[in-house]
Amino acid sequence: MEIAVFSAKPYDRQFLDAANAQQGHRLRYLDDPLDEDTVGLAAGYRGICIFVNDKANARILETLARGGTQLIALRCTGFNNVDLKAAARLGIKVVRVVDYSPNSVAEHAVALLMAINRKVHRAYNRTRDFNFALDGLMGFDLCGKTVAVIGTGKIGRAFTRIMVGFGCEVIGYDAYPTPEFEALGGRYATDGAIGMNADIVSLHCPLTPQTYHIINADTLARAKRGALLINTSRGGLVDTEAVIGALRSGQLGGLAIDVYEQEADVFFRDLSGTIVDDDVLQRLMTFPNVIVTGHQAFMTREAVSTICETTLRSITEFETGQPLSNEISVDA
Ligand code: NAD
Repeated sequence: MEIAVFSAKPYDRQFLDAANAQQGHRLRYLDDPLDEDTVGLAAGYRGICIFVNDKANARILETLARGGTQLIALRCTGFNNVDLKAAARLGIKVVRVVDYSPNSVAEHAVALLMAINRKVHRAYNRTRDFNFALDGLMGFDLCGKTVAVIGTGKIGRAFTRIMVGFGCEVIGYDAYPTPEFEALGGRYATDGAIGMNADIVSLHCPLTPQTYHIINADTLARAKRGALLINTSRGGLVDTEAVIGALRSGQLGGLAIDVYEQEADVFFRDLSGTIVDDDVLQRLMTFPNVIVTGHQAFMTREAVSTICETTLRSITEFETGQPLSNEISVDA
């Protein structure tokens, strides 16, 4: 089947080509993201393949449907960028990669936590300049600390397993609690109480209308003073202005993020030679206790191979009229 692959980076092409050796689809790689300006490039393609920051709102879906698109294959887990109701109305099927490697994202969350706590980013810069002074590099033992995990799904549980291994007490909140989290040694708390005693809060729930700005001025004010916030899930979970206020006052002790609410305008591109027109991001970058990575938590060989294999298998299922094992239902 002929597929237009939007936002195709060199690593996407490499791993999709390797996985496609088993499937034999015709993949047309497009550098551009899917948006109002580029949707015309999909005309005539029964299937398109998109990533986290490609836009598939109702207007774009209507244009896709007019151009003959019947399948959207998301090569990611989150699907907050697709209007599922509009897709269902237009008869467009949407598939995603439900499960690739929760470890890839959980381990990146741990990497961010370790770096922000032990100031690895600052030490790295100092020692490159032969500055071996230790002032300002004090962290804390993770062993014995309390970690709040919001969203105890696959990634939240992989993160929990590692944190329990560090000797942390892990408390969780999930709209749909699961005994698998408790079996790992986690303990559920109520929505309101979750962040209050935590030294570390890590976000692992999807972005939905219910979770939008789940971290806001109110929740930050109720958090333990000096707590660290880790977000590898979706930028929209966090009210960044409120976080900046909490960092300034010291209420928040540090922030490490792999996702950012306005990331679609900046991430996945080299903007090092330009003036980035985003005052919020510019302000975030001025804090010594903030680390930003550019949505790379999924980026391990294991995860990207599985993402590409699953995506192409879903396209084959669609082409051959089989049930779609990774279809996202509109109720999702
Ligand atoms: P999952 O579906 O296994 O787990 C999500 C959990 O969140 C579920 O247990 C669900 O019940 C819970 N949840 C839903 N609504 C909630 C709410 N209102 N409050 C609290 N919990 C709620 O998904 P996953 O594979 O663990 O992925 C989690 C998220 O991680 C994805 O939605 C995606 O946004 C993000 N992600 C990021 C990257 C990255 O590279 N940074 C990669 C993959 C996934």
